[in-house]
Amino acid sequence: MPIKVLQPHIASRIAAGEVIERPASVVKELVENALDAGATAVTLECHDGGARLIRITDNGIGIPAGEVELAFARHATSKLGELADLERVSTLGFRGEALPSIAAVADVEVLTATADDVPASYLRLENGEIVRSELRSRPRGTTLIVRHLFRHLPARLKFLKSTSTENSHIANLVTQYSMSFPEVSFNLSLDGRSTLHTAGNGMLRDALSQNYGLEAARQMLEVEGSEAQVKVSGLVSPPSLGRANRNYLSFFVNRRWVRSSLLIRAVEDAYHGYLLTGKHPITVLNIHLPPEELDINVHPAKTEVKFRNSQEVYKAVTAAVRKAVSDTPPPAVKAPAPAGAESPSLWSEEDISRREVALEPLPVRRTPEEESPRSSSLPYLRVIGQLGSSYIMAEGPDGLYMIDQHAAHERILFEKVLAQRASHNVDMQGLLDPLVIELNPRQQEVVKERGELLGQFGLTLEHFGERSYLLRAVPALMLDANLTESVLTLLDSLPNPEAPLSQEEKVAQSIACHGAIKAGDTLTQEEMRELVRQLEQAAQPRTCPHGRPTIVHLSSRQLEKEFRRTG
Ligand code: ADP
Ligand code: MG
Repeated sequence: MPIKVLQPHIASRIAAGEVIERPASVVKELVENALDAGATAVTLECHDGGARLIRITDNGIGIPAGEVELAFARHATSKLGELADLERVSTLGFRGEALPSIAAVADVEVLTATADDVPASYLRLENGEIVRSELRSRPRGTTLIVRHLFRHLPARLKFLKSTSTENSHIANLVTQYSMSFPEVSFNLSLDGRSTLHTAGNGMLRDALSQNYGLEAARQMLEVEGSEAQVKVSGLVSPPSLGRANRNYLSFFVNRRWVRSSLLIRAVEDAYHGYLLTGKHPITVLNIHLPPEELDINVHPAKTEVKFRNSQEVYKAVTAAVRKAVSDTPPPAVKAPAPAGAESPSLWSEEDISRREVALEPLPVRRTPEEESPRSSSLPYLRVIGQLGSSYIMAEGPDGLYMIDQHAAHERILFEKVLAQRASHNVDMQGLLDPLVIELNPRQQEVVKERGELLGQFGLTLEHFGERSYLLRAVPALMLDANLTESVLTLLDSLPNPEAPLSQEEKVAQSIACHGAIKAGDTLTQEEMRELVRQLEQAAQPRTCPHGRPTIVHLSSRQLEKEFRRTG
């Protein structure tokens, strides 16, 4: 084919593809526009995961009547005058790409007024073309309606995930901005269901409580610090309040919500040694620095930034977070493992490294046939005793067997829970006083999507109004002191794409983990014998549900080698 310049409507659809990946990208651009317009209230309504309809209303400065059509022209922006401005962008938008991009892939209506008593401009666009333009009335502010996203781009439409996945992307986005702009009141409804409502009173802790619950908000620690030109402020969780995944790390750089592996690393390094392994903190961190220290023009959706001096940013964040975290007492550990437990004296260099490799999560073997019964079944074991209140030492036909009591018990309960569900015979406990639990939008989506599955495992949650749910019944294994935390952790663990488990297995795993004895629990000889006996009966006794080993074996030969009894 000869080279030719693309027709404008094709070119603009291609360009739009960069900015608009999914409904949440539209929501992001529109929320950013509302915030740039100085809105103090932003109301959002989405249907069918945003694919059918997105409506956003703000009370910002509005678009002057003479400029509304221009706003939909490519590279039309009121936020950037000359090239030098690009070096110090202080607004969320600056490229003038969002409105034309959205209009290229959806039908759009806009109604906007610059003051309470001037006529409002109404514009309707289809296929990027204006099909209607008139004067109407409305109070100051802007309403944008986006319908039938990607209707003319079937390839894009096909890539959209389920309604609830798209909903949770939208909810997450609004959640983030409601924490970055606590002085703005956000109202989000998804398919007619009010999902999020923040007061807009300027208090970060209040905005956070709307998203993560009152209890978490109450416990969060204040962060305040600066290093050279970088200022860090916000809230972080105490070490005792870990979450199962990284979804609770929020970073705002000059109020823009960004993803940044540098900032994640800075936070995780700050928590190093404070959080239990596998747990992640909740953080809402505001990083402020002079705009010229920052390049925000590195990503089509503006969700990534480049810091001119990343070392300085890293240091500022780590120091500020560490200061907040280290002021709290460390988590109570029932019985600290004696130094000997981890002492390398038992192991040769090679064995240590091999053991660490073996402790990395391995993919779970799904079909029992894959493993020969010989290799997976356990020999008869005689319990010798407990090490560090965490490991059971046992003697077998070929040397020493060290069993991780938590991992082993988790495996036993995991299989039991799955078997109970398969036979419709779950061990559940109704609560005489149902517990009221507040769920964040993501957790609400999980309940909506997986409520039935959870019910099959004995967990009954009933919508109670707004973000409140009634906990009516729980799997008997979860009946511990902190039911709320356990249920929240379970809900958080479900969407986790990292775990190589099916949805059923994830639920079972989470229940098993809560019911299992912990590292640090002292066991009697009888309890240890019973645990080992049950482990011997398990279908896959050698790994926990995540695929980590339950048993480390030191063979008689290895022992002889260590003691140089053989040549
Ligand atoms: P950008 O935000 O990068 O300037 P957009 O395409 O998102 O580009 O918007 C184009 C222009 O339309 C903005 O510069 C702004 O002047 C105007 N605009 C868009 N949305 C709003 C709004 N909600 N309130 C006021 N003005 C708006
Ligand atoms: Mg914009």
